[in-house]
Amino acid sequence: MKLKIVKGTRDLYGDDIIRFQRLESAARQVFTLYGYEEIRTPMFERTELFAHGVGQDTDIVGKEMFLLEDRRGRSLALRPEGTASVVRSVITDNHMQQSNHRRFFYMGPMFRYEQPQKGRFRQFDQIGAEYFGVTTPDADLEVLLMLRHFFKAVNLESVSFQLNTIGCQKPECRPAFKKKLIIYLELHRSHLCENCKRRLETNPLRVLDCKEESCIAATSDAPRIYEHVCGECSGHFGQLKTMLREHKVSYELNHKLVRGLDYYSRTVFEVYSENLGAQNAAGGGGRYDGLFEIYGSPIVPALGFALGLDRLAMLIPEIEQESGGIFVVGHDRSKVTGLVAMLREAGYKCLYDPFQASMKSQFRQANKAGVTHVLILGEEEITNNTVSVKSMKDSNQVNLPFDGILEYIGQDLNPKN
Ligand code: AMP
Repeated sequence: MKLKIVKGTRDLYGDDIIRFQRLESAARQVFTLYGYEEIRTPMFERTELFAHGVGQDTDIVGKEMFLLEDRRGRSLALRPEGTASVVRSVITDNHMQQSNHRRFFYMGPMFRYEQPQKGRFRQFDQIGAEYFGVTTPDADLEVLLMLRHFFKAVNLESVSFQLNTIGCQKPECRPAFKKKLIIYLELHRSHLCENCKRRLETNPLRVLDCKEESCIAATSDAPRIYEHVCGECSGHFGQLKTMLREHKVSYELNHKLVRGLDYYSRTVFEVYSENLGAQNAAGGGGRYDGLFEIYGSPIVPALGFALGLDRLAMLIPEIEQESGGIFVVGHDRSKVTGLVAMLREAGYKCLYDPFQASMKSQFRQANKAGVTHVLILGEEEITNNTVSVKSMKDSNQVNLPFDGILEYIGQDLNPKN
């Protein structure tokens, strides 16, 4: 049997895992400051959750879901995104009963059957956050401020926000705009790709964010949705833009930004970095005031975002090797492992050679591991019940009674925990 990893998946280790850990711990720390609580939802749900919420016509539901059948023939899907599951939890577990506004964040793997390429996988990780209960634009502002804070915390200040509003379902808002857009697109039909010719009938807004050159050119003069939304949506967007300026959050308006999922309304945004190229957003999100209604639940205004960890990790520069810790060298296995166990329990990172190679080789390993101290349990030390401590910084060496070792190390090193 030839072992092979599944196409579009990968193992994360070494520098990659350090990048993921840094992003995850910064997200936990920053999101907590804004009152977000962590939520972990299952990695699979009933397929209809995504079919209804994300939308049948979207690529994610129509083409990209990993489907499974349970033993009783029920259709399940590996989650392709996080929002639908969090909303499901808010409804099934009545989270809004505890407070009229709730904030949750999540992190974990998502699954989409896409063509793998750089920064695009079939299993990828997202960090996301959802804010429930607030209609006013200060909620939109808060989410964008939190994102800016997060990017600062991970030294990714080069990312930029693109912003748009896609209005609401009131007849005079998005539906009226769609009619104007269809008239424009019909005039340019011959320049549209085959996909967009179909989208013109099913979801004309999606033509605006098609990545085909010909469609990009054909839609450059299309009517701008933010100039056509209803008075209320336009007011919401205007207030948000004013507050963003007050808080010095820079953004670019992008009338072609409509997001792939059906559930969005009003504010939508995406996060870009020059280093990922124009096609690949690092993340995106927006308001979805209508999603609860789709699930037959009382309306709860909401907004949120998802960041792609795999793509953000690509933006983090080289990882410096973390140094520190202690290496115990010696040939008396029980004494060496005993000292190692004692140091670890006291809170020090401690290594040793499980194969007990020559002293020279053990010192080489200690050097390679970048430890600050080597503790030597040679024959002489064992006979005299002492330990020699060599500082790797200045090569100074002292000989101490075994019982004094923790105290000496404590003055020289801080325990890790
Ligand atoms: P979306 O839910 O499609 O808006 O995706 C949010 C973010 O998740 C994107 O901006 C990407 O950074 C990331 N993402 C989406 N799909 C993939 C994928 N197949 N592989 C890696 N990252 C992805």
